[in-house]
Amino acid sequence: TKRRVSVGRVKAGAPRPRGVFERIAVHGHEQVSYWYDPPSGYRGIIAIHSSALGPGLGGTRYWYYASDGEALEDVLRLARGMTYKAAVAGLDLGGAKAVILGDPSADRAAVFRVHGRHVHSLGGRYLTAEDVGTSPADMAFVREETPYVTGLAGRSGDPSPMTSWGVFRAMQAGAKVVWGSDDLADRTVAVQGVGHVGYGLCELLHRRGARLIVTDVDPARVKRAVAEFGAKAVSPGAIYAAVADVFSPCALGAVINDTTLARLRVKLVCGGANNVLAEERHGRLLERRGIVYVPDYVANAGGIINIYQEVAGWTAEQSHAKTSAIYDTVLRVLEIARDEHIPSYQAADCLAEERLAAAERAKGLPHRA
Ligand code: NAD
Repeated sequence: TKRRVSVGRVKAGAPRPRGVFERIAVHGHEQVSYWYDPPSGYRGIIAIHSSALGPGLGGTRYWYYASDGEALEDVLRLARGMTYKAAVAGLDLGGAKAVILGDPSADRAAVFRVHGRHVHSLGGRYLTAEDVGTSPADMAFVREETPYVTGLAGRSGDPSPMTSWGVFRAMQAGAKVVWGSDDLADRTVAVQGVGHVGYGLCELLHRRGARLIVTDVDPARVKRAVAEFGAKAVSPGAIYAAVADVFSPCALGAVINDTTLARLRVKLVCGGANNVLAEERHGRLLERRGIVYVPDYVANAGGIINIYQEVAGWTAEQSHAKTSAIYDTVLRVLEIARDEHIPSYQAADCLAEERLAAAERAKGLPHRA
């Protein structure tokens, strides 16, 4: 039987629905909550996409949006992305996200305390965490108002080492599919960004005998990777054309685009960054060029698995084992892609949807993905 293939992202150029309810209906989000507090200047939106597998976990983003509509679009997209990420990682978590509309004159303590009350009002259906534009200090204010916040200092700790480990496991699985062996010794990996995730990944690869080519906009970080791992340094613009086996984006999103695609000299793309494909069609174009793409949210799920420790009461060993299993998930995703002749990003969505549909059936819920 043919799988139901649903496309996980908004297509470029697709007409956008206009009303709020219409927008919520497009991808079947369960709930959207708005909260406005004029005294503090807090304006926040929380979107719960799916709670079929469990409470919706997703960070709070603080961002200067051009309009309320743009903020809604962002929170809906991000919440849905979290549903897929948790589902494909095999966690009993749903997908949700929060955005706060930035106001430079607002008092941060007051804003995040109101946000904590907003999170609390959902009674645990939404669990928040740090995200772009928010810090542990902000989350400490949230914590004063609600227990439904994860990733605080002294709890599961920095998720980056687990993310690096998951990307490493994903890369091993990708190598198995491309070269028939998951041994990365003597493979050359071009790593874009040697920050938290990229540096940890380089360490793992170096220990297994891989050769490294690195770049970063921060010269001190490049220097450290060269000194510690014998990496070859290239300029940020030159990383795309590096002669290597694997390209590993660990800095920014949208790095596989019309400009960079033709320059790649690798057989495998697998990294820690989110939203690696500028548009869906770039996933298809990569494959047309004979390059295997390990979908970003499958490869970088170690971070959310690490946070899940706090929700499920797991030990660090349990998180490590679950993160190691990203290897099997990648093999499965690439197998679906091959068997069904679909791009790997779509195959990942299929796998997530299978789990979601089963949970929805078990709970007698309508299918919403
Ligand atoms: P980080 O800020 O520690 O590292 C990013 C690095 O990229 C920095 O060293 C920065 O200088 C460098 N960089 C920025 N622009 C660059 C450019 N144009 N060219 C080359 N280098 C550039 O962040 P991180 O925590 O390592 O996260 C990296 C990526 O992984 C992000 O996209 C993040 O969303 C994603 N991610 C991180 C985690 C996690 O656990 N930290 C989990 C999932 C996904």
